[in-house]
Amino acid sequence: MMSAMLTVEDAQARVMAEVTPLGVETVAFDGAVGRVLREDVIAPADAPESDNSAMDGYAVRADDIAGAPARLRVIGTIPAGHLATARVEPGTAMRIMTGAYVPEGADTVVQVELTDGGLEEVAVQNALARGTNIRRRGEDMRAGDVVLRRGTRAGAAEVAMLAGVRKRVVQAGIRPTVAILSTGDELVDVDAARTPETIVNTNGPLLAALVRDAGAIPRPLGIVRDTREATVAALDAAATSDFILTSGGVSVGAFDFVKDALEALGAETKFWKVAMKPGKPVVLSRLRDSVCFGLPGNPVSCFVSFHLFVAPALRKAAGQEGELFPPAVRARLTAPLRAAVDRRVYFRVRVTARDGELIAQPLATQGSGSLTSMIGANGLAVVEAGTSAAAGTDIPTLLIAPIS
Ligand code: AMP
Ligand code: MG
Repeated sequence: MMSAMLTVEDAQARVMAEVTPLGVETVAFDGAVGRVLREDVIAPADAPESDNSAMDGYAVRADDIAGAPARLRVIGTIPAGHLATARVEPGTAMRIMTGAYVPEGADTVVQVELTDGGLEEVAVQNALARGTNIRRRGEDMRAGDVVLRRGTRAGAAEVAMLAGVRKRVVQAGIRPTVAILSTGDELVDVDAARTPETIVNTNGPLLAALVRDAGAIPRPLGIVRDTREATVAALDAAATSDFILTSGGVSVGAFDFVKDALEALGAETKFWKVAMKPGKPVVLSRLRDSVCFGLPGNPVSCFVSFHLFVAPALRKAAGQEGELFPPAVRARLTAPLRAAVDRRVYFRVRVTARDGELIAQPLATQGSGSLTSMIGANGLAVVEAGTSAAAGTDIPTLLIAPIS
């Protein structure tokens, strides 16, 4: 068994080496939110498919209004979604609505505000350069353009694009399944009666929510008692999932059975100590076809190690190709931080944008058992072992949730 402390970067590299993308499946375009696209999506046609009006106004010939003010005969109206039935000849204009195709003969649209709004005849106040207020064919995309890249996770804009290019179904990465085991004799479910010797299992729900956020499918398998047999049986049953997450039971306590149980099942343990706080004991193991993470029991350690190791692994397994790790920014500290230990410390901070600058406000409590220190935390401020950072300095900060 390896017992050396690894750097976070080494540990992350070992995690990623253990993970390969799962296969693909076909999904409906409107079910693709949160899914990773596994094919490049190509525009089948130019968009817009014809020149169309960017304004409500009049389709005219630029030459006819070059000497404005000018009066033109109005020969018809083109609502959006309708094609013109006539050609704009010299001295004439057609009323046109935003989005309607520009009729033949016209080369410019005069917005209604620059006219008298006439129905039979229109007075145009200003000359306009040819092409004004016209969205050109292919301005948005050209036939053959790659409009969505394989390996990106789809959000609302991607779904709109799939619809826009009439891609009714798309190849998406199969979402990894993630078994979640919460070890600890002290744990009870949320609706159990309150007793002094028990605590509520919060890591189970925490991890299930994090797994879902990362685009994977949680399989909560409940509480596992602190015996070797129970731990072996639970891990054995969990190995039908792509990933297994355990929380607790990975320290050196007399009742910490996760490593033993993995070894008893013939799993290959990759590491078990990472030079970080919170979250030093983290196990990476392969149990048959499952990648197993033994996360620490302290809720905050569990949370931080999920973001650093598990979320990137789940994204990679789902086929995501970039942006696997939490993005690093520099943010200005509002209070001093000190890493008075031999390991790098990840402090929970609230990152906000103020006057074009990112501000990191450390949460009041930083204890690894503190649920309150996770509330509102969208960043992890990084302070290297044995160093400190003064208030007002910029420090590297990992974003684990959007900046509000
Ligand atoms: P362990 O690593 O098993 O010694 O757990 C470390 C600390 O985390 C202990 O105080 C546990 O009570 C707590 N803990 C472990 N598992 C959970 C859980 N599922 N939910 C909340 N706290 C937990
Ligand atoms: Mg325990």
